[in-house]
Amino acid sequence: MPTTNASAAARIDLRSDTVTRPTPEMRRAMADAEVGDDVLDGDPTVQRLEARVAELLGKERAYFFPSGTMANQAAVWLLARRGTEVLLDAESHLIQWEHAGLAALAGVQIRAVPAGAGRRVMDAASLAATIRPPSLHAPKASLVCFENTHNGAGGVVTSAADLLAMAEVARAHGLPVHMDGARLWNAAVATGTPISHFADCADTVMVSFSKGLGAPVGAVLAGSSDALADAWVVRKRMGGGMRQSGILAAGALHGLEHQWPRLADDHARTRALADAIDGVGGARVVPPDTNILMVDLPHPVVPAVVARAAAQGVLLSPWTTTRLRAVTHRDVDDAMVHRAGEVIVAALEAELHAAASA
Ligand SMILES: *Cc1c(COP(=O)(O)O)cnc(C)c1O
Repeated sequence: MPTTNASAAARIDLRSDTVTRPTPEMRRAMADAEVGDDVLDGDPTVQRLEARVAELLGKERAYFFPSGTMANQAAVWLLARRGTEVLLDAESHLIQWEHAGLAALAGVQIRAVPAGAGRRVMDAASLAATIRPPSLHAPKASLVCFENTHNGAGGVVTSAADLLAMAEVARAHGLPVHMDGARLWNAAVATGTPISHFADCADTVMVSFSKGLGAPVGAVLAGSSDALADAWVVRKRMGGGMRQSGILAAGALHGLEHQWPRLADDHARTRALADAIDGVGGARVVPPDTNILMVDLPHPVVPAVVARAAAQGVLLSPWTTTRLRAVTHRDVDDAMVHRAGEVIVAALEAELHAAASA
């Protein structure tokens, strides 16, 4: 639905951190970007972004992609073998939100890994238990994927140590690892762990610039020279070769420099929102690690709560009929999050009280 800036200003949009608009400074950096033809012989600003991200992640090479989805799909194409299985967390973006690209493009089948015992995401034990023993009759696996932070679990951080433990399991079975690190920036800020330590577990890593970093589009796929030997070809085949893409890369570089350090504010605001909501009408928040808040309701009234909040100008994401999601980002400040808390509390009280007495 197209919206004007005037109507956007009146609402508090917590549906996702993808809704951020580029700041005037970011737009200026994009307008001033030095550009070339990146498909023909290279764009200097894209090359600067790729070199910077490769260095940050401690990887040999990096490629700029138009979206995180395309970069994820390219990674699976590069690392997995047709007619085999890819093991990944049951709630991962690659399974839930990429239109079965694993099947449609890479020709692989998913093997969903459940959350570890007492955890919200897969761990080394649940991964090990899901890998099939070698058999003449069962599918072989060819790839393991991680997601960090984990969106569907509520912005959950998996520590670098836990990632390495999972990577050990993968390696013991001869399987390469891809990490969907769309929000790896948040994991680094939340834990103080250098981003390269998180990346150590994986052959390839995707990071996104259009979430908390506030760029309009863009992602990078980084990895070893071996893993990415055919990345340029695969990106072009998928339609991801872009010409004067330095204009987009400049937005990503600006986000890296000016928005990355700011993510701690988003995390603090999400905790404040969680404190305001927890327990209201029996609602339970998933304690947030980063900028994503999941709220579980004792009755299936999420659509009604979301509608009630929207009528007050607060937009939320209906995750299931009993779970809603609220995400903080650059375009909401303390006052807006405080106001959102009041609106959500009122909506929960009204709908959960009605449901309880029905
Ligand atoms: C947003 C997201 C993606 C996809 O990124 P796009 O640039 O929107 O295609 C992939 N993985 C995760 C975990 C995400 O949150």
